[in-house]
Amino acid sequence: MPYKLFFKLVLSLLLLNTAVYSQDKVYVKKLVKKLASPAMHGRGYVNHGDLKAAKLLASEFKKADLQHFGENYFQPYSFPINTFPGKVDVKINGKKLKPGSEVVINPITNSVSQSYELLWLPDTITQIASIYALVDTNQLAGKMLVIPEGVSSAYRRGIPGVPALFHRVEKAMWWHVSGAGNPENKLRLKIKADALPPDATTISVEAEAEFVPHYQTQNLIAFVPGSVQADSFFVFVAHYDHLGQMGKKTVYPGASDNASGTAAVMDLARYYAANPEKAHYTMIFALVSGEEAGLLGSSYLAENPPFDLNKTRFVINFDMVGTGSEGLSVVNGKVLPEYAALMEQLNTQKSYFPDIRLGGESCNSDHCPFYKKGVPAFFLFTRGPENREYHTISDTPEKLPFTAYESLFGLVTDFVEASSTTLFNR
Ligand SMILES: [Zn+2]
Repeated sequence: MPYKLFFKLVLSLLLLNTAVYSQDKVYVKKLVKKLASPAMHGRGYVNHGDLKAAKLLASEFKKADLQHFGENYFQPYSFPINTFPGKVDVKINGKKLKPGSEVVINPITNSVSQSYELLWLPDTITQIASIYALVDTNQLAGKMLVIPEGVSSAYRRGIPGVPALFHRVEKAMWWHVSGAGNPENKLRLKIKADALPPDATTISVEAEAEFVPHYQTQNLIAFVPGSVQADSFFVFVAHYDHLGQMGKKTVYPGASDNASGTAAVMDLARYYAANPEKAHYTMIFALVSGEEAGLLGSSYLAENPPFDLNKTRFVINFDMVGTGSEGLSVVNGKVLPEYAALMEQLNTQKSYFPDIRLGGESCNSDHCPFYKKGVPAFFLFTRGPENREYHTISDTPEKLPFTAYESLFGLVTDFVEASSTTLFNR
């Protein structure tokens, strides 16, 4: 090959590469580290963690020169939530348990300061009905039932007539806050089985709950105007909130869930702001809160969009995208086969992910409120053993390698480009 031709070829390959791989993984990882730092208080409802994260993200939008619809990027709204800003102190036979790793408290629990006698149920029990056969639920004042692992819904749903229960689990200690808009006078705790000595007889619980009927929070919305059809929209969404804190010291970092998706959307915002000609439609970047409390931010946005939902061509939601060694999952892939086929075709062409798994409908993340309004929407998450710390205090940035981030970014931007002129003319 003549030297000049070779040089030309190398140059065009280089240019092609910059066009495809214009992601910034270093930036993404840095942003995740900031969002998951203790200063953000788990981006929830204690110490205004959500607001601190929102301010950081708004300043990132501003730095990248993103536009906003109203006076700023904020879309305020509120919802009721039960929180644990104060003491969460659980002792077994006088010995303190570590909140988060050894014990968690159900988010619907009111404040409590009480000691109980432990009433152990045998491990053979797997049905709530069998508990009624063994225990007189009218005689449970001052007692706490120790429920074996097999009764899987005990902690989450509670057991009628049982005012206080302790659910033993072998698995990871996940916590959640959904359903916390409606606290009640029932105490439910989950305990790691190996933190509960088999001869334990008493437990003392001191938990300071604070119910906030109108917790003020905010979505963030930014955009890059479309270069061809500015009155149509393509939406990227991710929730930036997480579980917040359980007590004064136990912070849920939420690196995977969902600092990862938040950072990915921010990286896409920077990319389209820097390359506005790539924005065929007006590209919307929505970072919502309230997901962990029940998709509340995305629901609010879908009800009160500052852009026309009828002219919204597509929504992509990112929730937990920091792995990928095993592939990518696409919720709604099965119900939107044309879009899924395009995504699979692009994936094969560029060998982005080893596997794309198409899922059916599932109202499990922020794509759902838009999809319910008739807007085609995918929810993307990556798969792999790199991070399985879902909803635990171990969901930290160090455990999140962003294995397939380049692939995710490449696939999504290719999808936007390839589909803008064909599929989206709905
Ligand atoms: Zn979550």
